[in-house]
Formats: sequence, C-alpha cells, structure tokens
Amino acid sequence: MRPVQYNVKVKKLENDISMADMPEGYMGEGFFASSMDKIIGLARKNSLWPMPFATSCCGIEFMCTMASHYDIGRYGSERLAFTPRQCDLLMVMGTISKKMGPVLRQVYIQMAEPRWVLAVGACASSGGIFDSYSVLQGIDQVVPVDVYVPGCPPRPEAFLDGLMRIQDLVGKESLRRRNSDHYKALLESYGIQ
Ligand code: SF4
Repeated sequence: MRPVQYNVKVKKLENDISMADMPEGYMGEGFFASSMDKIIGLARKNSLWPMPFATSCCGIEFMCTMASHYDIGRYGSERLAFTPRQCDLLMVMGTISKKMGPVLRQVYIQMAEPRWVLAVGACASSGGIFDSYSVLQGIDQVVPVDVYVPGCPPRPEAFLDGLMRIQDLVGKESLRRRNSDHYKALLESYGIQ
C-alpha cells in the first residue's frame, strides 16, 4: 500500500508569534530597569483569567470568541475558570434578572483582588430591550463595571475590543489603587467591604 502524500506547507510558527512590548524603562549595556507597576501590569494584562457569567444569547457570541477563528487564547485569556476564586476578570454576558442580581454580586465578592468586570452586550450594560419590572437595568446597579461592550449581540470583534480595553486598564493600573481611599469608597457605595 502506497503511503499517503500530504501536500501541506508548514508555516514557520515563529512568524505567527508577536512578542508583547517591553514596559517603559531604562536600558543600557547589560541592564534594564523599570518599575514594579509596569512589570506586574504587563504580566497581569497578558494572563487574565476570565470567569464567564453567561445567561443568554451573548454567551453564544462568547463561545464563538473562544473558538479557533477568533481565539481568545491569543490574548492569554483562554484559561476560563468556573470558580470565582481563581479568576480576575468577571465577564457578564446576557440578561440579568433582578432575582439574579444578588447572585452576581456574590460571585463578584468571592473573587480576590485585583478583579475587573466586563459588561458584554446591551442587556448586561443597560437591560437592553428588556425594559421590564423583572430585569436589572444594567449590572452596574450591583457591581462596579470597568468596561462596557455595546451591541445586541456584540460581534466577537467587539468582544475582543472590550477585552483589549480591559488589558489597557490592567497594564496601567497602579499597584496602590486597590488600597486607595477612592477605591474603598467605590466598593462601599456598593455595600461591599
Ligand atoms: S444584548 Fe441582545 S444578544 Fe445579548 S443577551 Fe441581550 S438580547 Fe441577547
């Protein structure tokens, strides 16, 4: 039996890999100096671990964003965890009813600091088309939100754009922000210690 011949051109993998930019700093012969803020920010922004809180159709867009065509792993965020204790990015996708609000808040509280929140789609951001007695008119009524992604549903490109904006925030965040009075006051305004 003749062996099967595959005529596939193997692309060099190294051509597809782009390195993250190095943080600002001072470089000389044999040394590079930067600040801890920038180095930790660089590491955090490229290794966000999302906690998907998907309740309806926007969650399907998220599945598409995870899949090979868009591949959220290119941003270092392919490691989903369905336990809040291992995640630093809460992604809320879908309609959140008022009954579900306390559950969402509980999930947020169980996440360790530092944590960020992405509201994906019109429903999570503002209640969307469901202007009704039972639907929360935006998750920022129960948890602080860092970035909103518009659309009903947002396309995976919009989703990734939201993720990149979160990355910008994470990369530039001061290590002292979470201990600041301003941040504590923000959490207190939500009744969170
Ligand atoms: S924003 Fe639109 S697509 Fe997303 S959960 Fe709401 S109704 Fe569904």
